[in-house]
Amino acid sequence: MADCIFCKIASGEVNARIVYEDPETLAFLDLNPQAPTHVLIIPRRHIGSLTAAAEADAGLLGRLQLAAARTAKQLGVEGAFRLVTNNGKGAGQSVDHLHYHLLAGRKLLWPPG
Ligand code: 5GP
Ligand code: ZN
Repeated sequence: MADCIFCKIASGEVNARIVYEDPETLAFLDLNPQAPTHVLIIPRRHIGSLTAAAEADAGLLGRLQLAAARTAKQLGVEGAFRLVTNNGKGAGQSVDHLHYHLLAGRKLLWPPG
């Protein structure tokens, strides 16, 4: 997707602080962190949101969660973190490329706002 900021990060056209990568996924620091640790985990390939994922993406969706767990371990927050995706504008999705927020390092309230 030519005008997608996360596709540009995945291709290296736009810089980001990358903390984990493998052939299919990428994790980088959020530009506007909402917690001491705030990482975004994305598929390198453009998928608009979780509801835009297809049956054929099942393996990739699993690998995204494993990438999140590895990232949490690497950053030393594996004991207490939250993994969340905002699906759709009404839920706060502002970038239309599937991403999971990994948040940690502060008290995380429930229910989230
Ligand atoms: P959403 O609101 O779609 O759930 O999350 C999008 C996230 O992407 C936001 O937390 C925002 O701070 C982050 N973000 C938007 N543009 C950029 C960027 O160019 N670089 C990085 N590292 N994060 C970005
Ligand atoms: Zn994209």
